[in-house]
Amino acid sequence: MSNNRVLDTVIVGAGFAGMYSLHKQLSDGFNAEIFEKADDVGGTWYWNKYPGARCDIESMDYSYSFSEELQQEWNWKEKYGTQPELLKYARFVSKKFNLREKINFKTTIIKASFINKKWKIETDNNIIIECKYLVLATGNLSTPNTPKIKGISNFKGKIYHTGAWPKEMPVFKDRKVGIIGTGSSGVQSIPIISETAEKLFVFQRTANFSLPARHHKLPEDKRENYKKDYKKYRDLAKNSSFGIAKYQPPTKSAFDVSDDERNDIYERAWREGGQAMLFAFTDLLTNEEANKTAADFVRNKIKKIVRDKETAEKLCPNDHPIGTKRLCLDSNYFETYNKENVSLIDISNHPIQEITDNGLITNNIEYSFDDLVFATGFDAMTGAVNAIEILNEKNISLKSIWSNGPKTYLGIMVSEFPNLFMITGPQSPGVKSQMILSIEQHVDFIHNLIIHKRNNKYYQVNANKNKQEEWVNHNNEVANATLYPLAHSWYNGDNIAGKTRNFMPYVGGVANYKNICDEKIKNNYEGFEFL
Ligand code: FAD
Ligand code: NAP
Repeated sequence: MSNNRVLDTVIVGAGFAGMYSLHKQLSDGFNAEIFEKADDVGGTWYWNKYPGARCDIESMDYSYSFSEELQQEWNWKEKYGTQPELLKYARFVSKKFNLREKINFKTTIIKASFINKKWKIETDNNIIIECKYLVLATGNLSTPNTPKIKGISNFKGKIYHTGAWPKEMPVFKDRKVGIIGTGSSGVQSIPIISETAEKLFVFQRTANFSLPARHHKLPEDKRENYKKDYKKYRDLAKNSSFGIAKYQPPTKSAFDVSDDERNDIYERAWREGGQAMLFAFTDLLTNEEANKTAADFVRNKIKKIVRDKETAEKLCPNDHPIGTKRLCLDSNYFETYNKENVSLIDISNHPIQEITDNGLITNNIEYSFDDLVFATGFDAMTGAVNAIEILNEKNISLKSIWSNGPKTYLGIMVSEFPNLFMITGPQSPGVKSQMILSIEQHVDFIHNLIIHKRNNKYYQVNANKNKQEEWVNHNNEVANATLYPLAHSWYNGDNIAGKTRNFMPYVGGVANYKNICDEKIKNNYEGFEFL
Protein backbone atom coordinates (compact mmCIF):
# COMPACT_ATOMS: atom_id res chain seq x y z
CA MET A 1 0.00 0.00 0.00
CA SER A 2 1.20 3.51 -0.75
CA ASN A 3 2.48 5.78 1.95
CA ASN A 4 0.64 9.05 2.55
CA ARG A 5 -3.03 8.91 1.69
CA VAL A 6 -6.53 10.24 2.17
CA LEU A 7 -9.18 7.88 3.56
CA ASP A 8 -12.68 8.10 4.90
CA THR A 9 -11.86 6.03 7.96
CA VAL A 10 -8.79 4.95 9.85
CA ILE A 11 -9.34 2.03 12.19
CA VAL A 12 -6.65 1.32 14.76
CA GLY A 13 -6.28 -2.36 15.67
CA ALA A 14 -7.07 -5.64 13.92
CA GLY A 15 -8.65 -7.58 16.77
CA PHE A 16 -12.29 -8.62 16.66
CA ALA A 17 -13.39 -4.97 17.02
CA GLY A 18 -11.24 -3.58 14.22
CA MET A 19 -12.07 -6.40 11.83
CA TYR A 20 -15.83 -6.08 12.23
CA SER A 21 -15.59 -2.33 11.98
CA LEU A 22 -13.62 -2.60 8.73
CA HIS A 23 -16.14 -5.08 7.34
CA LYS A 24 -19.03 -2.69 8.06
CA GLN A 25 -17.20 0.27 6.58
CA LEU A 26 -16.22 -1.54 3.39
CA SER A 27 -19.72 -3.00 2.99
CA ASP A 28 -21.15 0.52 2.95
CA GLY A 29 -18.67 1.90 0.49
CA PHE A 30 -16.36 3.79 2.81
CA ASN A 31 -12.70 3.99 1.96
CA ALA A 32 -11.36 2.49 5.18
CA GLU A 33 -8.17 0.81 6.33
CA ILE A 34 -6.87 -0.76 9.51
CA PHE A 35 -3.47 0.03 10.99
CA GLU A 36 -2.17 -2.72 13.26
CA LYS A 37 1.04 -2.94 15.24
CA ALA A 38 1.24 -6.75 14.97
CA ASP A 39 2.04 -8.70 11.81
CA ASP A 40 -1.32 -10.47 11.82
CA VAL A 41 -4.94 -10.11 12.89
CA GLY A 42 -6.36 -11.45 16.16
CA GLY A 43 -5.46 -8.78 18.75
CA THR A 44 -5.75 -10.47 22.16
CA TRP A 45 -5.44 -13.86 20.50
CA TYR A 46 -2.33 -12.82 18.62
CA TRP A 47 -0.48 -11.49 21.66
CA ASN A 48 -1.57 -13.85 24.47
CA LYS A 49 0.04 -17.06 23.28
CA TYR A 50 1.02 -18.23 26.74
CA PRO A 51 0.57 -21.90 27.71
CA GLY A 52 -3.06 -22.62 28.55
CA ALA A 53 -4.48 -19.44 27.01
CA ARG A 54 -8.09 -19.89 26.02
CA CYS A 55 -11.36 -18.02 26.34
CA ASP A 56 -13.44 -18.36 29.49
CA ILE A 57 -16.77 -17.84 27.76
CA GLU A 58 -17.89 -20.80 25.70
CA SER A 59 -16.89 -20.45 22.07
CA MET A 60 -20.40 -21.02 20.74
CA ASP A 61 -21.13 -17.70 22.48
CA TYR A 62 -17.70 -16.08 22.22
CA SER A 63 -17.79 -15.63 18.45
CA TYR A 64 -19.20 -13.25 15.85
CA SER A 65 -22.93 -13.34 15.20
CA PHE A 66 -23.12 -10.78 12.38
CA SER A 67 -22.91 -13.36 9.60
CA GLU A 68 -25.17 -16.41 9.62
CA GLU A 69 -22.97 -17.94 6.94
CA LEU A 70 -19.87 -17.53 9.13
CA GLN A 71 -21.46 -18.95 12.26
CA GLN A 72 -22.74 -21.96 10.33
CA GLU A 73 -19.47 -22.51 8.49
CA TRP A 74 -17.09 -22.34 11.45
CA ASN A 75 -16.81 -25.40 13.68
CA TRP A 76 -15.54 -24.85 17.20
CA LYS A 77 -13.66 -27.89 18.40
CA GLU A 78 -13.68 -27.27 22.13
CA LYS A 79 -16.03 -25.86 24.74
CA TYR A 80 -13.60 -22.99 25.38
CA GLY A 81 -11.52 -22.21 22.30
CA THR A 82 -7.76 -22.31 22.70
CA GLN A 83 -5.61 -19.37 21.71
CA PRO A 84 -4.45 -21.14 18.49
CA GLU A 85 -8.06 -21.92 17.56
CA LEU A 86 -9.18 -18.34 18.23
CA LEU A 87 -6.28 -16.96 16.19
CA LYS A 88 -7.18 -19.34 13.36
CA TYR A 89 -10.78 -18.10 13.56
CA ALA A 90 -9.65 -14.46 13.37
CA ARG A 91 -7.53 -15.25 10.31
CA PHE A 92 -10.42 -17.15 8.73
CA VAL A 93 -12.71 -14.15 9.19
CA SER A 94 -10.11 -11.77 7.77
CA LYS A 95 -9.88 -13.91 4.62
CA LYS A 96 -13.57 -14.71 4.25
CA PHE A 97 -14.51 -11.02 4.25
CA ASN A 98 -11.49 -9.90 2.19
CA LEU A 99 -10.18 -7.68 4.96
CA ARG A 100 -6.46 -8.38 4.76
CA GLU A 101 -5.75 -6.21 1.74
CA LYS A 102 -7.07 -3.25 3.74
CA ILE A 103 -4.92 -3.94 6.79
CA ASN A 104 -1.54 -2.27 7.25
CA PHE A 105 0.36 -4.66 9.51
CA LYS A 106 3.46 -3.81 11.54
CA THR A 107 2.28 -0.21 11.73
CA THR A 108 1.66 1.60 14.99
CA ILE A 109 -0.43 4.74 15.17
CA ILE A 110 1.47 7.23 17.29
CA LYS A 111 -0.36 10.50 16.80
CA ALA A 112 -3.76 11.81 15.70
CA SER A 113 -4.58 15.53 15.40
CA PHE A 114 -7.93 17.07 14.50
CA ILE A 115 -7.07 19.88 12.10
CA ASN A 116 -9.43 21.68 9.70
CA LYS A 117 -12.25 19.22 10.42
CA LYS A 118 -10.12 16.22 9.47
CA TRP A 119 -8.03 13.77 11.44
CA LYS A 120 -4.35 13.75 10.58
CA ILE A 121 -2.92 10.38 11.57
CA GLU A 122 0.78 9.59 11.95
CA THR A 123 2.39 6.17 12.14
CA ASP A 124 5.69 4.90 13.47
CA ASN A 125 6.84 4.20 9.91
CA ASN A 126 6.26 7.73 8.67
CA ILE A 127 2.92 7.31 6.95
CA ILE A 128 0.57 10.27 7.20
CA ILE A 129 -3.12 9.75 6.56
CA GLU A 130 -5.88 12.30 6.39
CA CYS A 131 -9.32 10.96 7.23
CA LYS A 132 -12.82 11.94 8.31
CA TYR A 133 -13.31 9.28 10.97
CA LEU A 134 -10.97 7.73 13.46
CA VAL A 135 -12.08 4.46 15.06
CA LEU A 136 -10.06 3.25 18.04
CA ALA A 137 -10.31 -0.52 18.16
CA THR A 138 -7.18 -0.61 20.28
CA GLY A 139 -8.41 -3.09 22.90
CA ASN A 140 -9.04 -2.85 26.63
CA LEU A 141 -6.46 -5.46 27.55
CA SER A 142 -3.73 -4.79 25.02
CA THR A 143 -1.08 -2.82 26.92
CA PRO A 144 0.89 -5.31 29.02
CA ASN A 145 1.91 -4.10 32.46
CA THR A 146 5.36 -5.06 33.64
CA PRO A 147 5.79 -3.66 37.16
CA LYS A 148 8.90 -1.58 37.67
CA ILE A 149 10.85 -3.75 40.09
CA LYS A 150 14.39 -2.87 41.07
CA GLY A 151 17.07 -4.93 39.34
CA ILE A 152 14.94 -6.28 36.52
CA SER A 153 17.67 -5.66 33.95
CA ASN A 154 20.10 -7.76 35.98
CA PHE A 155 18.17 -10.99 35.50
CA LYS A 156 20.30 -13.40 33.44
CA GLY A 157 17.53 -15.78 32.46
CA LYS A 158 14.65 -15.28 30.07
CA ILE A 159 11.78 -12.93 30.88
CA TYR A 160 8.28 -13.39 29.43
CA HIS A 161 4.98 -11.51 29.74
CA THR A 162 1.79 -13.48 29.18
CA GLY A 163 0.35 -10.55 27.21
CA ALA A 164 3.30 -10.37 24.78
CA TRP A 165 4.25 -14.02 24.52
CA PRO A 166 6.85 -15.03 21.88
CA LYS A 167 5.66 -16.80 18.74
CA GLU A 168 7.81 -19.79 19.44
CA MET A 169 6.65 -21.49 22.63
CA PRO A 170 9.47 -21.48 25.20
CA VAL A 171 10.45 -24.90 26.52
CA PHE A 172 10.22 -25.05 30.30
CA LYS A 173 11.15 -28.70 30.53
CA ASP A 174 13.65 -29.30 33.32
CA ARG A 175 13.90 -25.59 34.05
CA LYS A 176 13.19 -23.65 37.19
CA VAL A 177 10.52 -21.03 36.57
CA GLY A 178 9.25 -18.10 38.63
CA ILE A 179 5.85 -16.61 37.87
CA ILE A 180 4.46 -13.35 39.26
CA GLY A 181 0.69 -12.92 39.18
CA THR A 182 -2.36 -15.04 39.88
CA GLY A 183 -5.05 -13.34 37.79
CA SER A 184 -6.74 -15.16 34.88
CA SER A 185 -3.48 -15.40 32.88
CA GLY A 186 -1.56 -16.85 35.84
CA VAL A 187 -4.40 -19.21 36.72
CA GLN A 188 -4.45 -20.58 33.16
CA SER A 189 -0.71 -20.86 32.66
CA ILE A 190 0.45 -22.13 36.07
CA PRO A 191 -1.00 -25.67 35.72
CA ILE A 192 0.48 -26.08 32.22
CA ILE A 193 3.93 -24.70 33.06
CA SER A 194 4.02 -26.97 36.10
CA GLU A 195 3.61 -30.03 33.84
CA THR A 196 7.14 -29.75 32.46
CA ALA A 197 9.06 -27.34 34.67
CA GLU A 198 11.45 -28.89 37.14
CA LYS A 199 10.34 -26.32 39.70
CA LEU A 200 7.70 -23.59 39.64
CA PHE A 201 7.65 -20.75 42.16
CA VAL A 202 4.35 -18.84 42.15
CA PHE A 203 4.61 -15.36 43.66
CA GLN A 204 1.12 -14.41 44.81
CA ARG A 205 0.27 -10.91 45.99
CA THR A 206 -3.49 -11.44 46.17
CA ALA A 207 -5.35 -14.73 46.24
CA ASN A 208 -8.01 -14.92 43.56
CA PHE A 209 -11.33 -16.68 43.23
CA SER A 210 -11.38 -19.26 40.49
CA LEU A 211 -14.08 -21.71 39.46
CA PRO A 212 -13.61 -24.92 37.49
CA ALA A 213 -14.10 -24.49 33.74
CA ARG A 214 -14.97 -28.20 33.26
CA HIS A 215 -13.44 -27.89 29.88
CA HIS A 216 -13.97 -30.61 27.26
CA LYS A 217 -14.01 -31.23 23.53
CA LEU A 218 -17.22 -29.99 21.99
CA PRO A 219 -19.35 -32.94 20.85
CA GLU A 220 -20.37 -32.53 17.21
CA ASP A 221 -24.08 -33.13 17.86
CA LYS A 222 -24.15 -30.52 20.63
CA ARG A 223 -22.46 -28.01 18.36
CA GLU A 224 -24.79 -28.70 15.44
CA ASN A 225 -27.89 -28.53 17.61
CA TYR A 226 -26.76 -25.18 18.96
CA LYS A 227 -26.20 -23.95 15.42
CA LYS A 228 -29.73 -24.91 14.41
CA ASP A 229 -31.04 -22.56 17.08
CA TYR A 230 -28.30 -19.98 16.84
CA LYS A 231 -30.66 -17.03 16.48
CA LYS A 232 -32.51 -18.00 19.65
CA TYR A 233 -29.24 -18.24 21.63
CA ARG A 234 -27.87 -14.97 20.24
CA ASP A 235 -31.13 -13.22 21.16
CA LEU A 236 -31.02 -14.65 24.67
CA ALA A 237 -27.45 -13.38 24.99
CA LYS A 238 -28.40 -9.90 23.81
CA ASN A 239 -31.18 -9.75 26.39
CA SER A 240 -29.03 -10.88 29.28
CA SER A 241 -26.80 -8.86 31.57
CA PHE A 242 -23.45 -10.45 30.72
CA GLY A 243 -24.11 -11.36 27.06
CA ILE A 244 -24.13 -15.10 27.61
CA ALA A 245 -27.19 -17.02 26.46
CA LYS A 246 -27.38 -19.51 29.30
CA TYR A 247 -26.95 -17.00 32.12
CA GLN A 248 -30.33 -15.34 32.33
CA PRO A 249 -31.10 -12.92 35.17
CA PRO A 250 -31.77 -14.77 38.44
CA THR A 251 -35.04 -14.22 40.27
CA LYS A 252 -34.30 -15.17 43.89
CA SER A 253 -32.18 -13.68 46.64
CA ALA A 254 -29.56 -15.94 48.22
CA PHE A 255 -31.70 -15.72 51.37
CA ASP A 256 -34.93 -16.83 49.69
CA VAL A 257 -33.74 -20.41 50.02
CA SER A 258 -32.57 -22.55 52.93
CA ASP A 259 -28.86 -23.06 53.62
CA ASP A 260 -29.08 -26.59 52.24
CA GLU A 261 -30.87 -25.53 49.07
CA ARG A 262 -28.35 -22.74 48.51
CA ASN A 263 -25.50 -25.13 48.99
CA ASP A 264 -27.04 -27.56 46.49
CA ILE A 265 -27.38 -24.78 43.94
CA TYR A 266 -23.72 -23.81 44.39
CA GLU A 267 -22.68 -27.45 44.24
CA ARG A 268 -24.53 -27.97 40.96
CA ALA A 269 -22.97 -24.81 39.53
CA TRP A 270 -19.51 -25.95 40.66
CA ARG A 271 -20.00 -29.33 38.97
CA GLU A 272 -21.38 -27.75 35.80
CA GLY A 273 -18.36 -25.44 35.53
CA GLY A 274 -18.19 -21.89 34.21
CA GLN A 275 -19.56 -18.79 35.89
CA ALA A 276 -23.00 -20.29 36.71
CA MET A 277 -22.56 -19.72 40.46
CA LEU A 278 -22.44 -15.95 40.03
CA PHE A 279 -25.80 -16.01 38.27
CA ALA A 280 -27.52 -18.10 40.93
CA PHE A 281 -29.03 -15.25 42.96
CA THR A 282 -30.06 -11.65 42.44
CA ASP A 283 -28.00 -10.18 45.27
CA LEU A 284 -24.59 -11.80 44.98
CA LEU A 285 -23.02 -8.65 43.61
CA THR A 286 -25.01 -6.17 45.67
CA ASN A 287 -25.19 -7.61 49.18
CA GLU A 288 -22.04 -8.52 51.11
CA GLU A 289 -23.78 -11.17 53.21
CA ALA A 290 -25.24 -12.85 50.15
CA ASN A 291 -21.88 -12.67 48.44
CA LYS A 292 -20.21 -14.27 51.47
CA THR A 293 -22.34 -17.39 51.05
CA ALA A 294 -20.81 -17.97 47.60
CA ALA A 295 -17.32 -16.89 48.66
CA ASP A 296 -17.40 -19.27 51.66
CA PHE A 297 -18.51 -22.09 49.39
CA VAL A 298 -15.50 -21.55 47.13
CA ARG A 299 -13.09 -21.12 50.04
CA ASN A 300 -14.28 -24.46 51.43
CA LYS A 301 -13.70 -26.08 48.05
CA ILE A 302 -10.14 -24.71 47.94
CA LYS A 303 -9.48 -26.11 51.42
CA LYS A 304 -10.76 -29.52 50.32
CA ILE A 305 -8.68 -29.57 47.14
CA VAL A 306 -5.34 -28.31 48.46
CA ARG A 307 -3.77 -30.85 50.82
CA ASP A 308 -1.29 -28.61 52.60
CA LYS A 309 -3.33 -26.56 55.08
CA GLU A 310 -1.03 -23.56 55.10
CA THR A 311 -0.96 -23.38 51.29
CA ALA A 312 -4.74 -23.76 51.13
CA GLU A 313 -5.17 -20.91 53.57
CA LYS A 314 -2.93 -18.67 51.48
CA LEU A 315 -4.91 -19.53 48.35
CA CYS A 316 -8.21 -18.50 49.94
CA PRO A 317 -9.19 -15.01 48.77
CA ASN A 318 -10.24 -12.81 51.67
CA ASP A 319 -9.81 -9.25 50.50
CA HIS A 320 -12.67 -8.87 48.01
CA PRO A 321 -16.20 -10.16 47.42
CA ILE A 322 -16.34 -13.00 44.89
CA GLY A 323 -16.98 -11.76 41.35
CA THR A 324 -15.88 -8.18 41.98
CA LYS A 325 -12.58 -8.90 40.27
CA ARG A 326 -12.88 -10.71 36.97
CA LEU A 327 -13.68 -14.26 38.08
CA CYS A 328 -11.09 -16.77 36.87
CA LEU A 329 -12.00 -20.11 35.32
CA ASP A 330 -9.44 -22.86 35.63
CA SER A 331 -8.51 -26.39 34.78
CA ASN A 332 -6.82 -27.92 37.83
CA TYR A 333 -5.46 -24.65 39.18
CA PHE A 334 -5.82 -25.39 42.90
CA GLU A 335 -4.87 -29.06 42.32
CA THR A 336 -1.53 -27.83 40.93
CA TYR A 337 -0.46 -26.80 44.44
CA ASN A 338 -0.51 -30.47 45.48
CA LYS A 339 2.42 -31.11 43.16
CA GLU A 340 5.88 -31.56 44.62
CA ASN A 341 7.48 -29.21 42.09
CA VAL A 342 5.18 -26.24 42.80
CA SER A 343 5.67 -23.73 45.62
CA LEU A 344 3.36 -20.87 46.49
CA ILE A 345 5.12 -17.82 47.89
CA ASP A 346 2.76 -15.36 49.55
CA ILE A 347 4.10 -11.87 48.91
CA SER A 348 1.03 -10.01 50.18
CA ASN A 349 2.99 -8.56 53.09
CA HIS A 350 6.41 -8.74 51.48
CA PRO A 351 6.54 -7.04 48.08
CA ILE A 352 9.29 -8.20 45.75
CA GLN A 353 12.34 -6.28 46.95
CA GLU A 354 14.56 -6.85 43.99
CA ILE A 355 15.10 -8.99 40.93
CA THR A 356 18.58 -10.42 41.00
CA ASP A 357 20.87 -12.13 38.45
CA ASN A 358 19.34 -15.50 39.27
CA GLY A 359 15.88 -14.85 40.65
CA LEU A 360 14.21 -12.49 43.08
CA ILE A 361 14.18 -11.47 46.72
CA THR A 362 11.09 -11.19 48.88
CA ASN A 363 10.95 -11.19 52.67
CA ASN A 364 14.79 -11.20 52.53
CA ILE A 365 14.81 -14.66 50.94
CA GLU A 366 16.25 -15.17 47.48
CA TYR A 367 14.44 -17.58 45.13
CA SER A 368 16.54 -18.79 42.19
CA PHE A 369 15.14 -19.76 38.82
CA ASP A 370 16.03 -19.86 35.11
CA ASP A 371 12.99 -18.13 33.61
CA LEU A 372 10.69 -15.41 34.91
CA VAL A 373 7.09 -15.05 33.74
CA PHE A 374 5.14 -11.85 34.35
CA ALA A 375 1.43 -12.65 34.48
CA THR A 376 0.93 -9.14 35.78
CA GLY A 377 -1.89 -7.98 33.52
CA PHE A 378 -2.48 -4.80 31.59
CA ASP A 379 -2.85 -1.05 31.80
CA ALA A 380 -6.47 -1.80 31.15
CA MET A 381 -9.10 0.24 29.34
CA THR A 382 -7.10 3.45 28.89
CA GLY A 383 -3.54 2.19 28.28
CA ALA A 384 -3.71 1.74 24.51
CA VAL A 385 -5.66 4.96 23.90
CA ASN A 386 -3.33 7.03 26.05
CA ALA A 387 -0.32 5.58 24.24
CA ILE A 388 -1.43 7.52 21.14
CA GLU A 389 -0.98 11.28 21.26
CA ILE A 390 -4.53 12.35 20.38
CA LEU A 391 -4.99 16.11 20.02
CA ASN A 392 -8.27 17.97 19.49
CA GLU A 393 -8.78 21.18 17.54
CA LYS A 394 -7.55 23.22 20.53
CA ASN A 395 -4.39 21.11 20.60
CA ILE A 396 -5.42 19.55 23.94
CA SER A 397 -4.51 15.90 24.38
CA LEU A 398 -7.03 13.24 25.32
CA LYS A 399 -4.50 11.86 27.78
CA SER A 400 -4.41 15.16 29.68
CA ILE A 401 -8.21 15.35 29.72
CA TRP A 402 -8.30 11.81 31.11
CA SER A 403 -5.56 12.39 33.68
CA ASN A 404 -8.06 12.02 36.54
CA GLY A 405 -9.82 9.11 34.89
CA PRO A 406 -11.56 8.60 31.56
CA LYS A 407 -14.84 10.28 30.70
CA THR A 408 -16.86 9.22 27.69
CA TYR A 409 -20.35 9.39 26.33
CA LEU A 410 -21.67 5.80 26.27
CA GLY A 411 -18.08 4.54 26.07
CA ILE A 412 -18.20 5.51 22.41
CA MET A 413 -17.21 9.16 22.07
CA VAL A 414 -15.37 11.82 24.06
CA SER A 415 -16.69 15.36 24.06
CA GLU A 416 -14.56 17.79 22.03
CA PHE A 417 -12.99 14.98 20.03
CA PRO A 418 -15.28 15.02 16.99
CA ASN A 419 -15.50 12.09 14.60
CA LEU A 420 -13.46 9.93 16.96
CA PHE A 421 -15.06 6.69 18.09
CA MET A 422 -14.10 4.01 20.56
CA ILE A 423 -15.22 0.43 20.51
CA THR A 424 -16.02 -0.81 24.03
CA GLY A 425 -14.40 2.21 25.62
CA PRO A 426 -14.51 3.11 29.33
CA GLN A 427 -18.07 3.47 30.70
CA SER A 428 -19.36 0.86 28.28
CA PRO A 429 -20.27 -2.68 29.35
CA GLY A 430 -17.56 -4.16 27.09
CA VAL A 431 -15.25 -5.79 29.60
CA LYS A 432 -18.19 -6.81 31.79
CA SER A 433 -19.68 -8.89 29.01
CA GLN A 434 -19.11 -11.47 26.32
CA MET A 435 -16.96 -9.01 24.50
CA ILE A 436 -17.64 -9.96 20.90
CA LEU A 437 -21.33 -9.29 21.48
CA SER A 438 -20.52 -5.84 22.89
CA ILE A 439 -18.08 -5.19 20.06
CA GLU A 440 -20.74 -5.93 17.46
CA GLN A 441 -23.29 -3.73 19.20
CA HIS A 442 -20.80 -0.85 19.45
CA VAL A 443 -19.64 -1.13 15.87
CA ASP A 444 -23.26 -1.19 14.66
CA PHE A 445 -24.07 1.89 16.75
CA ILE A 446 -21.01 3.80 15.54
CA HIS A 447 -21.72 2.80 11.99
CA ASN A 448 -25.34 4.03 12.23
CA LEU A 449 -24.04 7.31 13.59
CA ILE A 450 -21.65 7.69 10.66
CA ILE A 451 -24.32 6.75 8.12
CA HIS A 452 -26.75 9.22 9.72
CA LYS A 453 -24.09 11.87 9.41
CA ARG A 454 -23.37 10.99 5.78
CA ASN A 455 -27.07 10.90 4.82
CA ASN A 456 -27.63 14.32 6.33
CA LYS A 457 -24.44 15.77 4.89
CA TYR A 458 -23.10 16.72 8.31
CA TYR A 459 -19.35 17.01 8.45
CA GLN A 460 -18.93 16.52 12.16
CA VAL A 461 -20.39 14.66 15.12
CA ASN A 462 -19.44 15.43 18.70
CA ALA A 463 -20.59 14.18 22.10
CA ASN A 464 -22.38 16.80 24.17
CA LYS A 465 -20.37 17.62 27.28
CA ASN A 466 -23.33 17.73 29.69
CA LYS A 467 -24.68 14.45 28.37
CA GLN A 468 -21.23 12.95 28.82
CA GLU A 469 -21.15 14.16 32.43
CA GLU A 470 -24.60 12.66 33.01
CA TRP A 471 -23.48 9.36 31.55
CA VAL A 472 -20.33 9.23 33.69
CA ASN A 473 -22.40 10.02 36.79
CA HIS A 474 -24.93 7.35 35.89
CA ASN A 475 -22.09 4.90 35.39
CA ASN A 476 -20.73 5.68 38.87
CA GLU A 477 -24.18 5.46 40.49
CA VAL A 478 -24.75 2.04 38.95
CA ALA A 479 -21.32 0.83 40.07
CA ASN A 480 -21.72 2.26 43.58
CA ALA A 481 -24.94 0.31 44.04
CA THR A 482 -22.88 -2.88 43.65
CA LEU A 483 -19.95 -4.47 45.46
CA TYR A 484 -17.56 -3.97 42.50
CA PRO A 485 -15.82 -0.86 43.84
CA LEU A 486 -14.78 -2.83 46.96
CA ALA A 487 -12.16 -4.79 45.05
CA HIS A 488 -8.71 -3.60 44.11
CA SER A 489 -8.74 -4.42 40.45
CA TRP A 490 -7.97 -3.25 36.97
CA TYR A 491 -11.63 -2.23 36.68
CA ASN A 492 -10.62 0.62 39.02
CA GLY A 493 -7.14 1.16 37.64
CA ASP A 494 -5.74 -0.09 40.97
CA ASN A 495 -3.16 -2.32 39.30
CA ILE A 496 -1.17 0.54 37.77
CA ALA A 497 1.00 2.68 40.03
CA GLY A 498 -0.08 6.32 39.83
CA LYS A 499 -3.34 5.67 37.94
CA THR A 500 -6.28 7.60 39.41
CA ARG A 501 -8.85 5.30 40.96
CA ASN A 502 -11.98 5.26 38.85
CA PHE A 503 -14.48 2.51 38.24
CA MET A 504 -14.38 2.22 34.46
CA PRO A 505 -16.80 -0.40 33.11
CA TYR A 506 -20.57 0.07 32.90
CA VAL A 507 -22.07 -2.65 35.07
CA GLY A 508 -25.73 -2.09 34.27
CA GLY A 509 -25.65 -5.04 31.85
CA VAL A 510 -25.58 -5.36 28.07
CA ALA A 511 -29.36 -5.51 27.63
CA ASN A 512 -29.94 -2.29 29.59
CA TYR A 513 -27.08 -0.63 27.78
CA LYS A 514 -28.42 -1.60 24.36
CA ASN A 515 -31.86 -0.27 25.31
CA ILE A 516 -30.28 3.01 26.36
CA CYS A 517 -28.39 3.23 23.03
CA ASP A 518 -31.54 2.40 21.05
CA GLU A 519 -33.42 5.12 22.95
CA LYS A 520 -30.73 7.65 22.03
CA ILE A 521 -31.14 6.77 18.36
CA LYS A 522 -34.93 7.06 18.62
CA ASN A 523 -34.53 10.47 20.23
CA ASN A 524 -32.68 11.68 17.18
CA TYR A 525 -29.24 10.67 18.43
CA GLU A 526 -29.69 12.35 21.79
CA GLY A 527 -26.42 13.59 23.22
CA PHE A 528 -24.69 13.76 19.86
CA GLU A 529 -24.19 17.14 18.21
CA PHE A 530 -24.05 17.29 14.43
CA LEU A 531 -22.62 20.11 12.37
P1 FAD B 1 -7.78 -6.48 20.98
O1 FAD B 1 -8.03 -7.88 20.66
O2 FAD B 1 -6.97 -6.17 22.17
O3 FAD B 1 -7.10 -5.81 19.69
C1 FAD B 1 -6.57 -4.53 19.73
C2 FAD B 1 -5.50 -4.45 18.66
O4 FAD B 1 -5.10 -3.09 18.52
C3 FAD B 1 -4.24 -5.23 19.01
O5 FAD B 1 -3.94 -6.13 17.98
C4 FAD B 1 -3.16 -4.16 19.13
O6 FAD B 1 -1.91 -4.60 18.65
C5 FAD B 1 -3.72 -3.05 18.28
N1 FAD B 1 -3.25 -1.72 18.66
C6 FAD B 1 -3.38 -1.12 19.87
N2 FAD B 1 -2.84 0.12 19.82
C7 FAD B 1 -2.38 0.28 18.57
C8 FAD B 1 -1.74 1.36 17.90
N3 FAD B 1 -1.48 2.52 18.52
N4 FAD B 1 -1.39 1.21 16.61
C9 FAD B 1 -1.66 0.05 15.96
N5 FAD B 1 -2.26 -1.01 16.54
C10 FAD B 1 -2.62 -0.88 17.82
N6 FAD B 1 -13.23 -11.54 26.50
C11 FAD B 1 -14.34 -12.31 26.53
O7 FAD B 1 -15.44 -11.83 26.32
N7 FAD B 1 -14.25 -13.65 26.76
C12 FAD B 1 -13.05 -14.26 26.99
O8 FAD B 1 -13.02 -15.46 27.23
C13 FAD B 1 -11.87 -13.45 26.99
N8 FAD B 1 -10.67 -14.00 27.21
C14 FAD B 1 -9.56 -13.21 27.22
C15 FAD B 1 -8.31 -13.79 27.44
C16 FAD B 1 -7.18 -13.01 27.50
C17 FAD B 1 -5.85 -13.66 27.70
C18 FAD B 1 -7.30 -11.61 27.39
C19 FAD B 1 -6.08 -10.73 27.51
C20 FAD B 1 -8.52 -11.02 27.14
C21 FAD B 1 -9.65 -11.82 27.02
N9 FAD B 1 -10.90 -11.27 26.75
C22 FAD B 1 -12.02 -12.07 26.74
C23 FAD B 1 -11.04 -9.87 26.37
C24 FAD B 1 -10.59 -9.68 24.88
O9 FAD B 1 -9.63 -8.69 24.91
C25 FAD B 1 -11.80 -9.36 24.01
O10 FAD B 1 -12.71 -10.44 24.07
C26 FAD B 1 -11.51 -9.10 22.53
O11 FAD B 1 -10.67 -10.05 21.97
C27 FAD B 1 -11.02 -7.69 22.34
O12 FAD B 1 -10.97 -7.40 20.97
P2 FAD B 1 -10.56 -5.94 20.50
O13 FAD B 1 -10.47 -6.00 19.02
O14 FAD B 1 -11.44 -4.95 21.13
O15 FAD B 1 -9.13 -5.68 21.14
P1 NAP C 1 -4.72 -9.40 36.23
O1 NAP C 1 -6.04 -9.99 36.42
O2 NAP C 1 -4.59 -7.93 36.36
O3 NAP C 1 -3.73 -10.13 37.21
C1 NAP C 1 -2.43 -9.67 37.39
C2 NAP C 1 -1.77 -10.40 38.53
O4 NAP C 1 -0.45 -9.90 38.70
C3 NAP C 1 -2.49 -10.20 39.87
O5 NAP C 1 -2.38 -11.36 40.61
C4 NAP C 1 -1.68 -9.07 40.50
O6 NAP C 1 -1.77 -9.03 41.89
C5 NAP C 1 -0.29 -9.47 40.05
N1 NAP C 1 0.64 -8.34 40.10
C6 NAP C 1 0.61 -7.22 39.35
N2 NAP C 1 1.65 -6.42 39.69
C7 NAP C 1 2.34 -7.06 40.65
C8 NAP C 1 3.49 -6.75 41.41
N3 NAP C 1 4.15 -5.60 41.25
N4 NAP C 1 3.93 -7.65 42.31
C9 NAP C 1 3.26 -8.81 42.50
N5 NAP C 1 2.16 -9.15 41.83
C10 NAP C 1 1.70 -8.29 40.91
O7 NAP C 1 -4.12 -9.75 34.76
P2 NAP C 1 -4.40 -11.04 33.86
O8 NAP C 1 -4.33 -12.25 34.66
O9 NAP C 1 -3.52 -10.92 32.68
O10 NAP C 1 -5.90 -10.84 33.41
C11 NAP C 1 -6.37 -9.59 32.94
C12 NAP C 1 -7.73 -9.78 32.32
O11 NAP C 1 -7.62 -10.36 31.02
C13 NAP C 1 -8.64 -10.72 33.06
O12 NAP C 1 -9.24 -10.13 34.17
C14 NAP C 1 -9.61 -11.13 31.98
O13 NAP C 1 -10.55 -10.13 31.74
C15 NAP C 1 -8.69 -11.24 30.79
N6 NAP C 1 -8.17 -12.62 30.71
C16 NAP C 1 -9.06 -13.63 30.50
C17 NAP C 1 -8.62 -14.92 30.44
C18 NAP C 1 -9.56 -16.05 30.22
O14 NAP C 1 -9.63 -16.93 31.05
N7 NAP C 1 -10.24 -16.06 29.14
C19 NAP C 1 -7.27 -15.21 30.60
C20 NAP C 1 -6.40 -14.16 30.81
C21 NAP C 1 -6.87 -12.86 30.87
P3 NAP C 1 -2.90 -8.12 42.60
O15 NAP C 1 -4.18 -8.86 42.41
O16 NAP C 1 -2.46 -8.01 43.99
O17 NAP C 1 -2.90 -6.79 41.88
